[in-house]
Amino acid sequence: MAWYSALMIDPAAADDPRDDFAATFTAIDPAAPALSVGELSTQRGDGIFESIGVVDRHPQEVTAHLERLAHSARICDLPAPNLAQWRQAIAEVAVACGPGESVIKLILSRGVEHGPAPTAWVTAAAASDFTAIRRDGVRVVTLDRGYAIDVPSRAPWLLLGAKTLSYAVNMAAIREAKRRGADDAVFVTSDGFVLEAPTASLIIRRGDTFVTPAANGGILQGTTQLSLFAHLEQQGFVTAYETIPLDQLATADAAWLVSSVRLAAPITAVDGTPLAVDAELTASANRYLLSPRD
Ligand code: PLP
Repeated sequence: MAWYSALMIDPAAADDPRDDFAATFTAIDPAAPALSVGELSTQRGDGIFESIGVVDRHPQEVTAHLERLAHSARICDLPAPNLAQWRQAIAEVAVACGPGESVIKLILSRGVEHGPAPTAWVTAAAASDFTAIRRDGVRVVTLDRGYAIDVPSRAPWLLLGAKTLSYAVNMAAIREAKRRGADDAVFVTSDGFVLEAPTASLIIRRGDTFVTPAANGGILQGTTQLSLFAHLEQQGFVTAYETIPLDQLATADAAWLVSSVRLAAPITAVDGTPLAVDAELTASANRYLLSPRD
């Protein structure tokens, strides 16, 4: 991975009124060891994160990512992040990025076991080249998520809807998808509704309507999906949040996995059955997603 920069952050209280947080940042060598072995982020995956796409040093949708960081912190009982402090840290590492596409990660961990405070840091690195996948798409398999659509309200301790660091299950699902000859997975509830991919939101097209699973089903509210829906609405399309039965994925007019760094990848097959690709709309969605967005 080509690193550009990294900052350790001394987290400020959410109501800290300072307008300059530079004194709370420590620049570190991103390739050198930086965390204590007692870190709960590494021991238990106990923390939250954000991945922000950067295009020509412009970090995309910073406000939406900061709002989701605050939302994840609330769900996980972590101290509310000071959003002005994080915004300044993002701006500082963004200027160190190279031209083209990069990724900025924000990480807020519960900290060191028995330690006084959370640990926080920001990194910037070059992004992988997703040009081919944005054009050629992904074959997906549907995988059982192991719980029903109503679980989020019955079991809030599962932290569904928070972007936690515990992505081992998500990575296992991608490995299973590859074992089955596909590129990615779409999670399905045990009662048969589609949710999201392990690292992306799902959007399906039915005629001139674009539909995504409602966030109350225990999925992450995607910043890319939100931004793309606003763009599609401006173009006169209808958008909707629904509880989507599995059969509506295979019979969609088109479908995409969308996320902050890979952007819009058209789905070319579901469980081995080809799905039509709307190449023109995919290209125009990715042109929009690569344009500067705030
Ligand atoms: N759902 C999951 C589980 C994710 O991990 C991600 C992105 O990392 C998304 C959805 C898409 O979110 P965003 O568009 O904000 O990147």
